[in-house]
Amino acid sequence: MSQPDYVFCPYCGVQLEPHTILHQVRPGCPRCGFVHFHNPKVAVVGQIEQDGRILLVRRGINPGKGLWAMPGGYMDAGELPEDALRRELSEEVGLEVSISELVQIYPLVSRSPVSQGIVLVYRASPLVPDAPLIAQDDVEEAHWFTPATLPVDLAFASTRELLDRWVARQNTKVS
Ligand SMILES: [Zn+2]
Repeated sequence: MSQPDYVFCPYCGVQLEPHTILHQVRPGCPRCGFVHFHNPKVAVVGQIEQDGRILLVRRGINPGKGLWAMPGGYMDAGELPEDALRRELSEEVGLEVSISELVQIYPLVSRSPVSQGIVLVYRASPLVPDAPLIAQDDVEEAHWFTPATLPVDLAFASTRELLDRWVARQNTKVS
């Protein structure tokens, strides 16, 4: 099961039954017609760059507790992805950022091997150069890394892939 599932209708408390709705079997309420759609989650991640360095955070929560990843989090209802990323950066490391472009879209793999949604990765940079980093919220540490000082204990396969490509791009710039 990729997500916690409703057993009872959240509106009228009747036990849900499998209904085939819009080409899939979904839990539905026989009394009020409520249908439980497994809507995908959206997470945003920042590839934050400054002067040949990249920002990584050591995660204080699972998945990947104690390991290094790019900062980010889940989008809230009512937000656009860029707003969510700016909010997460402010909450996690006290940094205001300017977002330049969407870099990549990954499947969201968390506690379940089945993708629960998507991760949008944006390239961004600090609004104020060399602004101090304040690790807080669900982040234990935050540091700038050069290609030579990158940590090896990374939280996600996608972190490795993004860093490999970032390092390759830095090498291209130098030569
Ligand atoms: Zn109902």
